[in-house]
Amino acid sequence: VTEELTRVNDNIWDIPTSHAYGMNVPGRLFLSEKLMGTIDKETVNQVANVAMLPGILDYSMAMPDVHLGYGFTIGGVAAFDEEEGVISPGGVGFDINCGVRLMKTNLLKEDATPHMKILTENLFKKIPSGVGSKGEFKVTDTELTEAFLHGSQWAVEAGYGIESDTKNCESYGFMEGGNPDTVGTKARKRGRPQFGTLGSGNHFLEIQYVDKIYDPVAAAAYGLEEGQVTVMIHCGSRGAGHQICTDHLQTLNQAVKKYKINVPDMQLACAPAKSKEAQDYFDAMKCGANYAWANRQIIMHWTREVFEQFYGKDTDALGMELLYDVAHNVAKYETHEVDGKKQDVYVHRKGATRAFPAGHPEVPQQYRDVGQPVLIPGSMGTPSFVLKGGPNSMSLSFGSACHGAGRLMGRGKAKGSMNGEAIQEELARQGITVRAEKASVIAEEAPSVYKNSDDVVDVVDSLGIAQKVARLIPIGVIKG
Ligand code: 5GP
Ligand code: MN
Ligand code: MN
Repeated sequence: VTEELTRVNDNIWDIPTSHAYGMNVPGRLFLSEKLMGTIDKETVNQVANVAMLPGILDYSMAMPDVHLGYGFTIGGVAAFDEEEGVISPGGVGFDINCGVRLMKTNLLKEDATPHMKILTENLFKKIPSGVGSKGEFKVTDTELTEAFLHGSQWAVEAGYGIESDTKNCESYGFMEGGNPDTVGTKARKRGRPQFGTLGSGNHFLEIQYVDKIYDPVAAAAYGLEEGQVTVMIHCGSRGAGHQICTDHLQTLNQAVKKYKINVPDMQLACAPAKSKEAQDYFDAMKCGANYAWANRQIIMHWTREVFEQFYGKDTDALGMELLYDVAHNVAKYETHEVDGKKQDVYVHRKGATRAFPAGHPEVPQQYRDVGQPVLIPGSMGTPSFVLKGGPNSMSLSFGSACHGAGRLMGRGKAKGSMNGEAIQEELARQGITVRAEKASVIAEEAPSVYKNSDDVVDVVDSLGIAQKVARLIPIGVIKG
């Protein structure tokens, strides 16, 4: 694919506007030479397609974990002018506010490894998972509305957490301005029974330990030390978010015609940012995002209960404090500098993580001198990383970094070519206990279906977008 690209430096490649008719800005791929081998022409074309949307600013960007997605790539970042630009559900994804949170403990690796079988089993029993999974947990319609409005702030007030949980969370655990009237009854109906469930496949709950510290100052601010046990939770808005996306895509498909927007692919359905159609989607998306934050909060609460019961100590004594929580499928109205001028824009991060640098007012006080924690999962058999928002994230990528290692191989192909049981045994030999609903999930999620997380993280680190703080190694994984 490289012959059509312009190489800017070791880790930046541009797709010139001459690549395809109608591009308003160039595309920009943040990739090393090695990772260039992980992408194909179709992915480049998706990045170029997004560059054709009206009012897009600077570049249509792709992070090193980029792969094909619905309309927009996964690993895509695109910011739009609020006057000339658009809002598009494809730039957020179906799993609205899919994201990751990381909880610390004061347990050491040795305190946990001998008990992985029991701990993963207990967690698997406590936290419902799987495709259409429903929990014991019941919310009333009023509570669901509260969750749509107040996200994890609602969950904490309802008793599922402690006060510091919302402090250590992107957007303090909820986006303001969600409007439940823009969420259809079907989305409510799907969302209610699925509250407090992990979901399937790619979603996980993982017990890990810190095996390496790269940045002692940042690690101290985050409260991380070598050998320490952490718990990472990855899930999103379940059927609620999916249905919100589906419903609003219908309206936005009409809006494309109504506002005569040229889209190269109907999966890029969108509307002018200030139109009622776009704002209704945005307000519904916020409800989906808030649901996801509440969901991760509730799951974390149950995780604490399992640990408390097993170790016979309370959350406080176990040091089970939330380090941070990031969204990686969301659109946000943020202030950025464009062509030397401060401007409010709609940033779409789809399979991309916010990565604000030190000093940014949206970084929680206790991390402000260091930068926002950036959480990047690897796979159930490879390292995950904690990074800090870097000094160049605002100028290079609208304050955004990659969100994971990124898939190399599609689900279907993985299922056909991998043997779940064999992978589970191999991981067990490496000291990683995997508990999944069925072997096919393990096949779909084999470490080798993902890019090498070290390679991916090194790209954003080298560019100063987000810088490595600590590396985490899995020891027990619950797969939905
Ligand atoms: P996505 O949100 O795109 O489905 O997944 C985000 C990232 O999570 C993937 O790109 C992959 O790198 C990572 N990931 C998927 N499964 C696991 C897992 O079981 N454990 C860890 N640590 N990371 C995973
Ligand atoms: Mn998801
Ligand atoms: Mn995700």
